[in-house]
Amino acid sequence: MKKEFEFINWIHHQINDQQSNLIAGIGDDAAIFLPQNDQEILISTDLLAEDIHFKLDYTPARLLGHKALAVNLSDIAAMGGVPTFFLLSIARPKTLSDEFISEMLLSMLQLANQHQTTLIGGDTSASANKLFLNITILGNCPRGKSIKRTGAKPNDEIYVTGQLGGSNLGFKLLQAGKRILNPELTKEETLALMAHLQPQPRLAIAQSLCVEEIANSMIDISDGVSSDLGHICEQSNVGARVEAKSLPLFPGASLDQALNGGEDYELIFTVSPSNIDKLKALMERFPNLAVTKIGTITENLERLLITDSTSIPLLARGYDHFA
Ligand code: ADP
Ligand code: MG
Repeated sequence: MKKEFEFINWIHHQINDQQSNLIAGIGDDAAIFLPQNDQEILISTDLLAEDIHFKLDYTPARLLGHKALAVNLSDIAAMGGVPTFFLLSIARPKTLSDEFISEMLLSMLQLANQHQTTLIGGDTSASANKLFLNITILGNCPRGKSIKRTGAKPNDEIYVTGQLGGSNLGFKLLQAGKRILNPELTKEETLALMAHLQPQPRLAIAQSLCVEEIANSMIDISDGVSSDLGHICEQSNVGARVEAKSLPLFPGASLDQALNGGEDYELIFTVSPSNIDKLKALMERFPNLAVTKIGTITENLERLLITDSTSIPLLARGYDHFA
Protein backbone atom coordinates (compact mmCIF):
# COMPACT_ATOMS: atom_id res chain seq x y z
CA MET A 1 0.00 0.00 0.00
CA LYS A 2 1.20 3.53 -0.79
CA LYS A 3 2.27 5.64 2.18
CA GLU A 4 -0.11 8.42 3.23
CA PHE A 5 2.21 11.11 1.90
CA GLU A 6 2.68 9.30 -1.43
CA PHE A 7 -1.05 8.86 -1.71
CA ILE A 8 -1.80 12.57 -1.16
CA ASN A 9 1.00 13.48 -3.54
CA TRP A 10 -0.48 11.15 -6.14
CA ILE A 11 -3.92 12.77 -5.76
CA HIS A 12 -2.34 16.22 -6.03
CA HIS A 13 -0.72 15.25 -9.34
CA GLN A 14 -4.01 14.10 -10.85
CA ILE A 15 -5.43 17.60 -10.61
CA ASN A 16 -4.63 19.83 -13.53
CA ASP A 17 -7.29 22.51 -13.92
CA GLN A 18 -6.79 25.36 -11.51
CA GLN A 19 -9.57 27.91 -11.25
CA SER A 20 -8.43 31.50 -11.44
CA ASN A 21 -9.81 32.44 -8.02
CA LEU A 22 -8.05 29.49 -6.31
CA ILE A 23 -5.05 30.76 -4.35
CA ALA A 24 -4.02 27.44 -2.74
CA GLY A 25 -5.48 23.97 -3.22
CA ILE A 26 -4.09 20.67 -1.91
CA GLY A 27 -0.78 20.99 -0.03
CA ASP A 28 -1.17 23.62 2.65
CA ASP A 29 -2.98 23.39 5.99
CA ALA A 30 -6.07 24.94 4.45
CA ALA A 31 -7.16 25.76 0.92
CA ILE A 32 -7.70 29.42 -0.05
CA PHE A 33 -10.00 30.90 -2.66
CA LEU A 34 -11.37 34.35 -3.35
CA PRO A 35 -15.16 34.58 -3.32
CA GLN A 36 -16.65 35.91 -6.53
CA ASN A 37 -18.54 39.18 -6.67
CA ASP A 38 -22.32 39.09 -6.40
CA GLN A 39 -22.35 35.35 -5.63
CA GLU A 40 -23.51 33.60 -2.50
CA ILE A 41 -21.51 30.52 -1.51
CA LEU A 42 -23.31 27.19 -1.11
CA ILE A 43 -21.71 24.48 1.01
CA SER A 44 -22.90 20.93 1.61
CA THR A 45 -21.53 17.59 2.73
CA ASP A 46 -22.47 13.93 2.28
CA LEU A 47 -21.04 10.80 3.87
CA LEU A 48 -20.99 7.39 2.19
CA ALA A 49 -20.43 4.49 4.58
CA GLU A 50 -19.60 1.00 3.31
CA ASP A 51 -22.39 -1.52 3.96
CA ILE A 52 -24.83 1.34 4.69
CA HIS A 53 -24.74 3.26 1.38
CA PHE A 54 -22.92 0.74 -0.79
CA LYS A 55 -21.48 -2.75 -0.71
CA LEU A 56 -18.08 -3.39 -2.24
CA ASP A 57 -19.17 -6.74 -3.68
CA TYR A 58 -21.52 -5.04 -6.17
CA THR A 59 -19.95 -1.60 -6.58
CA PRO A 60 -17.12 -1.24 -9.11
CA ALA A 61 -14.51 1.31 -7.96
CA ARG A 62 -15.19 3.72 -10.81
CA LEU A 63 -18.93 3.83 -10.09
CA LEU A 64 -18.34 4.40 -6.38
CA GLY A 65 -16.09 7.35 -7.21
CA HIS A 66 -18.75 8.73 -9.53
CA LYS A 67 -21.60 8.31 -7.06
CA ALA A 68 -19.77 9.79 -4.07
CA LEU A 69 -19.30 13.05 -5.98
CA ALA A 70 -22.60 12.88 -7.90
CA VAL A 71 -24.72 12.89 -4.74
CA ASN A 72 -22.85 15.99 -3.56
CA LEU A 73 -23.21 17.70 -6.95
CA SER A 74 -26.92 16.90 -6.70
CA ASP A 75 -27.17 18.94 -3.48
CA ILE A 76 -25.67 21.94 -5.27
CA ALA A 77 -28.09 21.33 -8.18
CA ALA A 78 -31.00 21.27 -5.74
CA MET A 79 -30.18 24.88 -4.77
CA GLY A 80 -29.76 25.93 -8.41
CA GLY A 81 -26.03 26.47 -7.93
CA VAL A 82 -22.82 25.98 -9.88
CA PRO A 83 -20.34 23.62 -8.15
CA THR A 84 -16.85 25.09 -7.74
CA PHE A 85 -14.65 23.17 -5.28
CA PHE A 86 -14.77 20.04 -3.14
CA LEU A 87 -12.88 18.38 -0.30
CA LEU A 88 -12.62 14.61 0.04
CA SER A 89 -12.02 12.68 3.24
CA ILE A 90 -11.26 8.98 3.02
CA ALA A 91 -11.03 6.43 5.82
CA ARG A 92 -9.78 3.24 4.21
CA PRO A 93 -9.29 -0.29 5.51
CA LYS A 94 -5.84 -1.77 4.93
CA THR A 95 -7.40 -4.62 2.97
CA LEU A 96 -8.58 -2.31 0.16
CA SER A 97 -6.08 -2.22 -2.72
CA ASP A 98 -4.31 0.86 -4.07
CA GLU A 99 -5.82 -0.05 -7.46
CA PHE A 100 -9.36 0.21 -6.11
CA ILE A 101 -8.67 3.58 -4.48
CA SER A 102 -6.94 5.04 -7.54
CA GLU A 103 -9.64 3.85 -9.93
CA MET A 104 -12.29 5.31 -7.64
CA LEU A 105 -10.46 8.64 -7.44
CA LEU A 106 -9.79 8.91 -11.16
CA SER A 107 -13.46 8.45 -12.00
CA MET A 108 -14.42 10.97 -9.33
CA LEU A 109 -11.99 13.48 -10.83
CA GLN A 110 -13.35 12.77 -14.30
CA LEU A 111 -16.87 13.72 -13.14
CA ALA A 112 -15.39 16.76 -11.36
CA ASN A 113 -13.73 17.86 -14.62
CA GLN A 114 -17.00 17.51 -16.51
CA HIS A 115 -18.48 20.07 -14.12
CA GLN A 116 -15.38 22.28 -13.76
CA THR A 117 -15.22 21.44 -10.06
CA THR A 118 -11.78 21.25 -8.42
CA LEU A 119 -10.59 19.02 -5.56
CA ILE A 120 -8.91 21.45 -3.14
CA GLY A 121 -8.21 19.28 -0.08
CA GLY A 122 -9.40 16.63 2.29
CA ASP A 123 -8.18 14.19 4.88
CA THR A 124 -6.87 10.65 4.75
CA SER A 125 -7.07 8.08 7.48
CA ALA A 126 -6.93 4.35 8.04
CA SER A 127 -10.10 2.57 9.13
CA ALA A 128 -10.52 -0.64 11.14
CA ASN A 129 -12.40 -2.52 8.42
CA LYS A 130 -14.84 -0.42 6.37
CA LEU A 131 -14.42 2.28 3.73
CA PHE A 132 -15.85 5.75 4.48
CA LEU A 133 -15.98 8.60 1.97
CA ASN A 134 -16.98 12.10 2.90
CA ILE A 135 -17.17 14.96 0.44
CA THR A 136 -17.73 18.60 1.26
CA ILE A 137 -18.74 20.58 -1.79
CA LEU A 138 -18.86 24.30 -2.48
CA GLY A 139 -20.88 26.11 -5.09
CA ASN A 140 -21.89 29.55 -6.30
CA CYS A 141 -25.26 31.08 -6.90
CA PRO A 142 -26.13 34.67 -7.89
CA ARG A 143 -26.82 36.46 -4.63
CA GLY A 144 -30.41 36.00 -3.41
CA LYS A 145 -31.35 33.54 -6.15
CA SER A 146 -30.67 30.11 -4.64
CA ILE A 147 -33.79 27.94 -4.67
CA LYS A 148 -34.82 26.85 -1.18
CA ARG A 149 -37.20 24.25 0.22
CA THR A 150 -39.11 27.05 1.91
CA GLY A 151 -40.39 28.85 -1.20
CA ALA A 152 -43.38 26.76 -2.39
CA LYS A 153 -46.67 28.71 -2.70
CA PRO A 154 -50.29 27.50 -2.92
CA ASN A 155 -51.25 26.81 -6.58
CA ASP A 156 -47.63 26.18 -7.61
CA GLU A 157 -47.39 23.30 -10.05
CA ILE A 158 -45.10 20.45 -8.91
CA TYR A 159 -42.60 19.03 -11.43
CA VAL A 160 -39.98 16.28 -11.44
CA THR A 161 -37.07 15.68 -13.79
CA GLY A 162 -36.35 12.26 -15.31
CA GLN A 163 -37.97 9.03 -14.16
CA LEU A 164 -38.70 7.73 -10.69
CA GLY A 165 -38.04 4.43 -8.93
CA GLY A 166 -35.14 3.28 -11.15
CA SER A 167 -32.55 3.46 -8.39
CA ASN A 168 -34.60 1.32 -6.02
CA LEU A 169 -35.37 -1.13 -8.83
CA GLY A 170 -31.63 -1.39 -9.52
CA PHE A 171 -30.91 -1.83 -5.81
CA LYS A 172 -33.39 -4.74 -5.63
CA LEU A 173 -31.70 -6.35 -8.64
CA LEU A 174 -28.32 -6.04 -6.90
CA GLN A 175 -29.79 -7.63 -3.77
CA ALA A 176 -31.09 -10.46 -5.97
CA GLY A 177 -27.54 -11.10 -7.15
CA LYS A 178 -27.55 -9.27 -10.50
CA ARG A 179 -24.28 -7.52 -11.31
CA ILE A 180 -23.26 -4.84 -13.76
CA LEU A 181 -21.54 -6.22 -16.93
CA ASN A 182 -23.23 -9.60 -16.45
CA PRO A 183 -23.96 -10.67 -20.05
CA GLU A 184 -27.38 -12.10 -19.11
CA LEU A 185 -28.80 -8.73 -18.03
CA THR A 186 -31.67 -7.33 -20.09
CA LYS A 187 -31.35 -3.76 -21.35
CA GLU A 188 -33.93 -2.61 -18.76
CA GLU A 189 -32.03 -4.32 -15.94
CA THR A 190 -28.78 -2.66 -16.99
CA LEU A 191 -30.46 0.75 -17.02
CA ALA A 192 -31.91 0.18 -13.54
CA LEU A 193 -28.53 -0.93 -12.16
CA MET A 194 -26.95 2.19 -13.65
CA ALA A 195 -29.70 4.39 -12.19
CA HIS A 196 -28.65 3.10 -8.77
CA LEU A 197 -24.88 2.96 -9.27
CA GLN A 198 -24.32 6.00 -11.50
CA PRO A 199 -26.90 8.74 -10.79
CA GLN A 200 -26.67 11.90 -12.92
CA PRO A 201 -26.83 15.22 -11.06
CA ARG A 202 -29.26 17.59 -12.85
CA LEU A 203 -27.03 20.64 -12.68
CA ALA A 204 -27.71 22.28 -16.04
CA ILE A 205 -31.49 22.47 -15.80
CA ALA A 206 -31.27 23.44 -12.13
CA GLN A 207 -29.00 26.38 -12.95
CA SER A 208 -31.45 27.61 -15.59
CA LEU A 209 -34.38 27.30 -13.16
CA CYS A 210 -32.35 29.45 -10.78
CA VAL A 211 -30.89 32.11 -13.07
CA GLU A 212 -34.20 32.59 -14.91
CA GLU A 213 -36.07 32.65 -11.59
CA ILE A 214 -38.56 30.00 -12.69
CA ALA A 215 -38.85 27.78 -9.60
CA ASN A 216 -40.12 28.84 -6.17
CA SER A 217 -38.77 25.81 -4.33
CA MET A 218 -36.61 22.79 -5.14
CA ILE A 219 -35.12 19.62 -3.60
CA ASP A 220 -33.26 16.61 -4.97
CA ILE A 221 -34.69 13.14 -4.47
CA SER A 222 -32.38 11.35 -2.08
CA ASP A 223 -34.92 9.69 0.23
CA GLY A 224 -37.99 9.43 -2.06
CA VAL A 225 -40.71 11.70 -3.50
CA SER A 226 -43.00 11.12 -0.51
CA SER A 227 -40.33 12.24 1.96
CA ASP A 228 -38.61 14.90 -0.17
CA LEU A 229 -41.82 16.60 -1.35
CA GLY A 230 -42.82 16.31 2.32
CA HIS A 231 -39.77 18.42 3.25
CA ILE A 232 -40.83 21.14 0.79
CA CYS A 233 -44.39 21.10 2.18
CA GLU A 234 -43.33 21.22 5.82
CA GLN A 235 -40.71 23.89 5.30
CA SER A 236 -42.98 26.00 3.06
CA ASN A 237 -46.03 25.46 5.28
CA VAL A 238 -48.19 24.18 2.41
CA GLY A 239 -49.80 20.90 1.32
CA ALA A 240 -49.75 18.99 -1.98
CA ARG A 241 -51.91 16.91 -4.29
CA VAL A 242 -49.94 14.38 -6.34
CA GLU A 243 -51.59 12.58 -9.28
CA ALA A 244 -50.56 8.91 -9.16
CA LYS A 245 -51.08 8.46 -12.91
CA SER A 246 -48.78 11.40 -13.71
CA LEU A 247 -45.71 9.98 -11.96
CA PRO A 248 -43.04 9.19 -14.59
CA LEU A 249 -42.22 5.60 -13.62
CA PHE A 250 -38.86 4.16 -14.59
CA PRO A 251 -39.54 1.13 -16.86
CA GLY A 252 -40.28 -1.81 -14.55
CA ALA A 253 -40.55 0.29 -11.36
CA SER A 254 -43.68 0.23 -9.18
CA LEU A 255 -45.67 3.20 -7.87
CA ASP A 256 -44.29 2.39 -4.41
CA GLN A 257 -40.70 2.50 -5.71
CA ALA A 258 -41.38 5.81 -7.48
CA LEU A 259 -42.82 7.40 -4.33
CA ASN A 260 -40.70 5.84 -1.61
CA GLY A 261 -37.63 4.28 -3.23
CA GLY A 262 -35.22 7.19 -3.01
CA GLU A 263 -31.73 7.77 -4.43
CA ASP A 264 -33.05 8.78 -7.85
CA TYR A 265 -31.25 12.14 -7.53
CA GLU A 266 -33.83 13.75 -9.80
CA LEU A 267 -35.16 17.20 -8.89
CA ILE A 268 -38.60 18.10 -7.53
CA PHE A 269 -39.44 21.77 -8.02
CA THR A 270 -42.50 24.00 -7.84
CA VAL A 271 -43.46 26.76 -10.30
CA SER A 272 -46.04 29.57 -10.04
CA PRO A 273 -48.82 29.41 -12.69
CA SER A 274 -47.47 32.75 -14.00
CA ASN A 275 -44.07 31.13 -14.75
CA ILE A 276 -45.31 28.08 -16.68
CA ASP A 277 -44.62 29.70 -20.08
CA LYS A 278 -41.01 30.35 -19.04
CA LEU A 279 -40.76 26.73 -17.89
CA LYS A 280 -42.13 25.44 -21.22
CA ALA A 281 -39.53 27.50 -23.10
CA LEU A 282 -36.79 26.14 -20.87
CA MET A 283 -37.98 22.55 -21.38
CA GLU A 284 -37.52 22.98 -25.14
CA ARG A 285 -33.85 23.65 -24.48
CA PHE A 286 -33.56 20.32 -22.60
CA PRO A 287 -35.13 17.91 -25.11
CA ASN A 288 -33.30 14.90 -23.65
CA LEU A 289 -34.55 15.33 -20.09
CA ALA A 290 -38.19 14.58 -19.23
CA VAL A 291 -39.80 17.21 -17.02
CA THR A 292 -43.20 16.05 -15.77
CA LYS A 293 -45.97 17.80 -13.86
CA ILE A 294 -46.96 15.50 -10.99
CA GLY A 295 -49.32 17.67 -8.95
CA THR A 296 -50.15 20.98 -7.30
CA ILE A 297 -49.23 22.76 -4.08
CA THR A 298 -52.23 23.56 -1.85
CA GLU A 299 -52.93 25.99 0.96
CA ASN A 300 -54.53 23.10 2.87
CA LEU A 301 -51.64 21.37 4.68
CA GLU A 302 -52.75 17.83 3.73
CA ARG A 303 -50.53 15.87 1.36
CA LEU A 304 -52.65 13.63 -0.86
CA LEU A 305 -52.03 11.01 -3.51
CA ILE A 306 -54.87 11.14 -6.06
CA THR A 307 -55.76 7.92 -7.87
CA ASP A 308 -58.66 7.32 -10.33
CA SER A 309 -61.02 6.28 -7.56
CA THR A 310 -59.76 7.82 -4.30
CA SER A 311 -57.35 10.14 -2.64
CA ILE A 312 -55.15 8.81 0.16
CA PRO A 313 -52.63 10.51 2.47
CA LEU A 314 -49.16 10.68 0.88
CA LEU A 315 -47.17 9.48 3.87
CA ALA A 316 -43.42 10.10 4.05
CA ARG A 317 -42.24 6.53 3.57
CA GLY A 318 -38.84 7.30 2.07
CA TYR A 319 -35.53 6.11 3.47
CA ASP A 320 -34.77 6.95 7.11
CA HIS A 321 -31.36 5.99 8.52
CA PHE A 322 -32.67 5.86 12.08
CA ALA A 323 -35.91 3.99 11.31
P1 ADP B 1 -2.85 18.07 8.06
O1 ADP B 1 -2.04 17.12 8.89
O2 ADP B 1 -2.47 19.50 8.18
O3 ADP B 1 -4.33 17.83 8.17
P2 ADP B 1 -2.68 16.37 5.79
O4 ADP B 1 -1.38 15.62 5.74
O5 ADP B 1 -3.87 15.66 6.27
O6 ADP B 1 -2.46 17.72 6.55
O7 ADP B 1 -3.00 16.91 4.33
C1 ADP B 1 -2.03 17.54 3.54
C2 ADP B 1 -2.72 18.19 2.38
O8 ADP B 1 -3.33 17.20 1.57
C3 ADP B 1 -3.83 19.15 2.77
O9 ADP B 1 -3.82 20.22 1.84
C4 ADP B 1 -5.08 18.33 2.62
O10 ADP B 1 -6.20 19.14 2.32
C5 ADP B 1 -4.71 17.41 1.45
N1 ADP B 1 -5.39 16.10 1.51
C6 ADP B 1 -5.29 15.15 2.46
N2 ADP B 1 -6.05 14.08 2.19
C7 ADP B 1 -6.68 14.36 1.02
C8 ADP B 1 -7.61 13.68 0.20
N3 ADP B 1 -8.09 12.46 0.53
N4 ADP B 1 -8.04 14.29 -0.92
C9 ADP B 1 -7.60 15.51 -1.25
N5 ADP B 1 -6.70 16.21 -0.53
C10 ADP B 1 -6.25 15.65 0.60
MG1 MG C 1 -5.37 16.17 7.67
